[in-house]
Amino acid sequence: MELLAVVKADAYGHGLASCAATLAAEGVQWFGVTSVEEGVALRAICPDSRILAMSGLWRGEADAVIEHRLTPVVWDQRHLALLEEAARRHGARRGALPVHLEIDTGMSRQGVQLGGLPALLASLPAESPLRIEAVMTHFHSPDQAEPTAAQMREFAAAVERIAARGFRPELLSAGSSTDLLNQGTVAVTELAVRHGARRMIRAGLALYGYDPCGEAPGLQPVLAWKTRIIGLREIEPGATAGYSATFRAGRPTRLALLPVGYADGFNRLLSNRARVLLHGHAAPVAGRISMDQTMVDVTEIPQAGIGDEVVLLGEQQGARITAPDLAALAGTIPYEVLCAIAARVPRTMVE
Ligand SMILES: *Cc1c(COP(=O)(O)O)cnc(C)c1O
Repeated sequence: MELLAVVKADAYGHGLASCAATLAAEGVQWFGVTSVEEGVALRAICPDSRILAMSGLWRGEADAVIEHRLTPVVWDQRHLALLEEAARRHGARRGALPVHLEIDTGMSRQGVQLGGLPALLASLPAESPLRIEAVMTHFHSPDQAEPTAAQMREFAAAVERIAARGFRPELLSAGSSTDLLNQGTVAVTELAVRHGARRMIRAGLALYGYDPCGEAPGLQPVLAWKTRIIGLREIEPGATAGYSATFRAGRPTRLALLPVGYADGFNRLLSNRARVLLHGHAAPVAGRISMDQTMVDVTEIPQAGIGDEVVLLGEQQGARITAPDLAALAGTIPYEVLCAIAARVPRTMVE
């Protein structure tokens, strides 16, 4: 099995440069990014890796694909035409430019629909500089057997048609973190074996230490998000805090000011809901999260002092806040919590 490490969106908010370099040093040979632009950035970090640009390409991007040796996901005749033209201009030989052909098996997002497959294949002549290295698809409910089986049937039908037209893809690429953790969809592996191909799995979230379904024992989140107290004040009972005065002190209250806000990716929906960790205790967010600042109620943590470490995500003295915790409070998924952490938040690698 080939593992493709998905590092789109700045490695799910973790920082592309350090994550990609670490994964490459661990032996990962394939990386997945969203755009050609992300692929070009990754090429500067990983000169020898395979880089899959997973969301097609647009006019003007085909030259970058070739110059930076990216592998595009394609599903549309426009993609093929753009790439063929650029490949010929660069003097590419027959089959020199590998592409991954995506099949829409039910996500209705990208990929050629089964009905459009014959025409698409017909537009790829034998002497084309493009070569179908992989056939891929994406499961919309990888934790559910029946919809995934239905998508598998569509995928198998597509692979049959592709083989019947004489194409010999080396890879069948389907499945994400859920399949990696549950060893699900062996059907993909069996299909690959039947077609003399290898199976590829494209995993993102699991690499960063989370189970998309919520509960893989032994997985350790890679990222911690920390800040520190930059201000402290006491307010009287009845005093309010933050925009629109949504917090009102019911007792003499001590507030700590944190230099982090929704512009950093600390979701405004966490206002008056999330907690942060301080000296191993949970301190509730007091009032609305501002663009750049947040107040927390530290009345119950008398040792709180200026400069003290505050954990937004991660562990402190045995207490813990996870991306799924914040996601539940903000009505979203851990993916969004992680990749929302803004570029201006410095990333530091620690052992
Ligand atoms: C994001 C993405 C993945 C990775 O999904 P995870 O659930 O993070 O493992 C795989 N394939 C495609 C096409 C994707 O867009």
